Amino acid sequence: MEHQLIIYNTLNRKKELFVPLHAPHVGMYVCGPTVYGDPHLGHARPAITFDLLFRYLTHLGYKVRYVRNITDVGHLEHDADEGEDKIAKKARLEQLEPMEVAQYYTNRYHKAMDALNVLPPSIEPHASGHIIEQEQLVQQILDNGYAYVSEGSVYFDVAKYNKDHHYGKLSGRNLDDVLNTTRELDGQDEKRNPADFALWKKAQPEHIMRWPSPWSDGFPGWHCECTAMGKKYLGSHFDIHGGGMDLVFPHHECEIAQSVASQGDDMVHYWMHNNMITINGQKMGKSLGNFITLNQFFSGEHEKLAQAYSPMTIRFFILQAHYRSTVDFSNEALQAAEKGLARLMDAIHGLDRIVPCKAGQASTIDVHALRGKCYEAMNDDLNSPIVIAHLFDGAKMVNNVLAGNDTITADDLAHLKETFRIFCYDILGLKEDNASNAAREEAYGKVVDMLLEERLKAKANKDWATSDKIRNELTALGFELKDGKEGTEWKLNK
Ligand SMILES: [Zn+2]
Repeated sequence: MEHQLIIYNTLNRKKELFVPLHAPHVGMYVCGPTVYGDPHLGHARPAITFDLLFRYLTHLGYKVRYVRNITDVGHLEHDADEGEDKIAKKARLEQLEPMEVAQYYTNRYHKAMDALNVLPPSIEPHASGHIIEQEQLVQQILDNGYAYVSEGSVYFDVAKYNKDHHYGKLSGRNLDDVLNTTRELDGQDEKRNPADFALWKKAQPEHIMRWPSPWSDGFPGWHCECTAMGKKYLGSHFDIHGGGMDLVFPHHECEIAQSVASQGDDMVHYWMHNNMITINGQKMGKSLGNFITLNQFFSGEHEKLAQAYSPMTIRFFILQAHYRSTVDFSNEALQAAEKGLARLMDAIHGLDRIVPCKAGQASTIDVHALRGKCYEAMNDDLNSPIVIAHLFDGAKMVNNVLAGNDTITADDLAHLKETFRIFCYDILGLKEDNASNAAREEAYGKVVDMLLEERLKAKANKDWATSDKIRNELTALGFELKDGKEGTEWKLNK
């Protein structure tokens, strides 16, 4: 695996050469969705960012185990108006079944990811299926003296931990910063310090999801699942942990603390974070109520959307920005992405129409430099916008050859085709869209209609040679023509 892949490690705040712990194997963990709502544009970004990394590492020849979890341990509550007695009398099927809700949204998430051509991870563990592993983690942290039990809940002792280690090393904070930004949340009176976070929460009567534990019937704190499942499937030291920048604090900071407090050191070698998608400069998110779901993008049904956008337009739009830059949503930006993608796809189709020059002649373009430049951009912390810019240069080459301004040898043509295949399809994960197919078919259809009109004119002029020629050529291409009073109907038998 000869490569110079450099990735930005949030932990050290610099770009570092990627050296896996156990080449050719690579272990990669990415925080997945919470499945209590429809996926929105904000969910597409980490999924596409780490899909790009997964695809690239695989392309380089690594055997990647990619783990992306499903957070299904929600804090669902019964209807507040109903007392416990009333709920106990309700038939089981009339009650909200958390797993049914989680399954419904998991299915919808998978469908949206498929549409975006995001490859499924190697393992997709559910938090609810790993309660025992999370309880073991909590017990280890208790045994090591970095947690305490209070009223049936277990809290991480941040002050104690910070004496021996640095709490805040990933986000660049110190404990005072953390204390100053900690809001009053429930359970504060049970904590020794407002910065302490829950490892296990005792369930209140209205909590539906609950499991037995040595401390109480309850549920694990949110940060536990990724530490426990990362260790279970990737080992106590693995290569990459990724997620959105909004997870750096507190989620990933707490994961590091849990890992150090339980096993003595951090499990993760490279921490990677994608930036946010903003809408009018503000983060898009469920809690802010300004999100647009992926299905709304695909159908165009949302007041902020001027039209429907195909899944590939969304993917291309996201890849046109570097993953560590913010992306601001606007109809204009998406429309530009749609046009850009169509231009790229046209060039790929144009490749099939190129006739290479005769033996003995040389190419007037340098197709070999293009592939090297694309690799260089990918190796520079997955710089997809630069890769796309190079592919647009490739598209210009295709158009110049088609226009007869340049020539290309058969070998160079094969090389150029392969470059497009590797980068557009394998690495960037672009594919033919239904939307672009429909638009193409409509355009082809109009050309056939035009030819049939010419044939009618020829017939009217008794120019049988032209009318027969059009009919024969179309038939030879697989078109079936049926002359009628209303004109000529056609269909393609292919
Ligand atoms: Zn996580």
